[in-house]
Amino acid sequence: MPASNPWSELQAELVQREEAGLLRRRRLVDGQQQSVLHVDGTDVLSFCSNDYLGLASHPDLIAALQQGAVQAGVGSGASHLITGHHRLHHELELALAGFVELPRALMFSTGYMANLGVVTALLGRNDAVFADRLNHASLNDAVVLSRAELHRYPHNDVAALEAMLANSDAKRKLVLADAVFSMDGDIAPVPQLLAVCERHNAWLMLDDAHGFGVLGQHGRGVLEHFGVRSSRIIYMATLGKAAGVFGAFVAGDPLMIEYLLQKARPYIYTTAMPPALAEALKAALPIIADEQARRAKITALIAALRGGLRLQRWRLDPSETPIQPLIIGSNEEALAASEYLREQGILVPAIRPPTVPQGTARLRISLSAAHRHEHIQQLIDALHGAERALSA
Ligand code: PMP
Repeated sequence: MPASNPWSELQAELVQREEAGLLRRRRLVDGQQQSVLHVDGTDVLSFCSNDYLGLASHPDLIAALQQGAVQAGVGSGASHLITGHHRLHHELELALAGFVELPRALMFSTGYMANLGVVTALLGRNDAVFADRLNHASLNDAVVLSRAELHRYPHNDVAALEAMLANSDAKRKLVLADAVFSMDGDIAPVPQLLAVCERHNAWLMLDDAHGFGVLGQHGRGVLEHFGVRSSRIIYMATLGKAAGVFGAFVAGDPLMIEYLLQKARPYIYTTAMPPALAEALKAALPIIADEQARRAKITALIAALRGGLRLQRWRLDPSETPIQPLIIGSNEEALAASEYLREQGILVPAIRPPTVPQGTARLRISLSAAHRHEHIQQLIDALHGAERALSA
């Protein structure tokens, strides 16, 4: 007799996840992205968003998207290499390359796809990747798909990385790192990584998903932050976070970019993103570069949060970016803290393994230029209350 439900063996796994405090659930949002967000039917103060500059609901971007849809329709109709590559995409690529001051840029539909595309196009079986242990999941997945040998170095440990590179006789070597670590908020030591790559003839790929728009005087990202330039750097950034819209791009040496255009499968075998999104992104770039007050506001909010918190049990790890990680430890306590805040009308996600290492479950506090100082005070008061309540 066949089993009545062909999926029943999955049930045990889901129950196990629930018991371990690892079952995830989606919240339903209405209205626009704002710091006070309408979630599951009520208004909450949100510290969950990657909309760091508060551009996701900017009237100029909304107008540009509307105007782009009138000009180019809502769909691109095909992949870039067939007939999906619209003039609006082309103009955005030129603008992005200019923005990050690199010779050429290539757009991808998402950051996840950009990471898969670059690593699988540039590396294969006889090659090796040297990856920071805390890299984003999309970079890890990219390495698996490429079939290159994977070496993971301890977080930001340049000396350990150098020892691994020195021991490798792989044909091509790629060092792979988040520029701003997505669950920790700290910044990779890019000048030191570059120096090691130069000594060992390795390429350096930086995933600046959380630095683009945020780091550097004009928000040009991690390369502006450190003032570094090198043709061996493969720069990747996403456009759905500080840029407020959607998508991603890779920038760097023109030959490398041309090679990606020819070989990156997640570029070739997918429908081009709607060109109207490119129009919205073109409107975002001058706002990012010129409105430095948005970055100054984030800096002030970070200082207010870090200066105001007086916690005993929980630890706010060092971070100078809008990602502020409050390390709690156990999955259950992190969930309980998140739930306590939720009851106070404040949304901060509990991040648990496997997204972060075992025993380091945390509240990932994301700040945005759209927050007000009184929002930060509300968060500080609620966190003090949560720690007291959960220590009792
Ligand atoms: N890299 C990092 C470091 C990220 O945090 C993310 C998104 N969470 C991505 C890549 C993927 O970007 P996208 O959301 O555009 O797919």
